[in-house]
Amino acid sequence: MTDIAENLKDVQAKIAKRADKWGQDASRVELVAVSKKQPVEKLKAALDAGQRVFGENRVQEAQQKWPDLREEYGDITLHLIGPLQTNKAKEAVALFDVIETVDRPKLARILAGEMEKQGRQIPIYIQVNIGAEDQKAGIPIEEADDFITLCREELGLNVKGLMCIPPAGEQPAPFFALLGKIAERNGLEYLSMGMSGDYEYAVQFGATSVRVGTGIFGAREG
Ligand SMILES: *Cc1c(COP(=O)(O)O)cnc(C)c1O
Repeated sequence: MTDIAENLKDVQAKIAKRADKWGQDASRVELVAVSKKQPVEKLKAALDAGQRVFGENRVQEAQQKWPDLREEYGDITLHLIGPLQTNKAKEAVALFDVIETVDRPKLARILAGEMEKQGRQIPIYIQVNIGAEDQKAGIPIEEADDFITLCREELGLNVKGLMCIPPAGEQPAPFFALLGKIAERNGLEYLSMGMSGDYEYAVQFGATSVRVGTGIFGAREG
């Protein structure tokens, strides 16, 4: 079996090294262990190694896996990193501690309503379609500033920062840099960017949160 404790240490070490090299503050970089489609034994191995922040991309899958683990391990922070349908907003607000994929006004409004109803103001990230890809989730770049303002000022959402997934097969650095610019001009300090293949670049460009799955857990099932 994959040595998950070893992988976690290795990823943390790489984050620290890259941050040091580029004058970033490694202590500000949070490692989100992406546990989608991974068996519970692997999640337990990560929990036993001390990891407490996880990312899932489907509400239903997370509902099946995490309530029991939370009971067993306590103090877990769960991020939703996959697209959210409005009809799952209620469950998402109840289960997750951070929603990283807020990308359209309708969803933002429904989440704001749900958070108020449940008395649960959880932080969100706004996902930006940073490569302007037709099929990709995320608010279009040119609408990002207005959408951030809507979320913060009109809807009173706790906008922590911005999230992106650069286009596959392209050098990610310019996309990470662009996300940083959009955040900066909107006074946002947190950037969720970087996956197994590119998290070191993301750290170099100021990521405060990297989402690493296969680099920790090995290949996914199914
Ligand atoms: C699956 C996923 C990840 C993790 O991908 P790996 O390549 O396994 O590290 C990160 N972010 C998002 C949004 C994902 O869906």
